[in-house]
Amino acid sequence: MTDEDARRERVDDVEVAGLTADDLALINWDQDERPAQIRAIVARIGPGWRQKVFIGQGWWPLLVRLDQRLARLDPDYDIVQVKEKFGGLRFYAAPSNGAARSPAFNAAIRDAEIEASRTCETCGQPGRLHSRKGWVVTLCAEHAAAVGAKPVG
Ligand SMILES: [Zn+2]
Repeated sequence: MTDEDARRERVDDVEVAGLTADDLALINWDQDERPAQIRAIVARIGPGWRQKVFIGQGWWPLLVRLDQRLARLDPDYDIVQVKEKFGGLRFYAAPSNGAARSPAFNAAIRDAEIEASRTCETCGQPGRLHSRKGWVVTLCAEHAAAVGAKPVG
């Protein structure tokens, strides 16, 4: 098996979950104060870093699930930064007390990053990478059309 085959198999393993009522409440959140689940994630961000997650609300549900999965492994884990870059989720975090990242910790992050790569950052529906004038973003067909972005690849 080539690395590319292994990667593809790995991607196929990751379920893109259907949206629950709780997911939709996050995606459609329209208040100035962030929802409790997002505030709890921001509270893990260490001093010296912006106290904010730099991703669209379509990815909030998968971010919350990632946080729950990591918290089961390490209740006091720390976040450095959560952002979108080149259309993908970048989630930088570290175990508490300077411990090394376990395979399970890394796998949780990798799974969420893969899920994000297949999830519209605006609405949480299935999406793919699109570009518009060199700006790349993961969107569903509807939201890509809304900003004039075309599929990549
Ligand atoms: Zn969308």
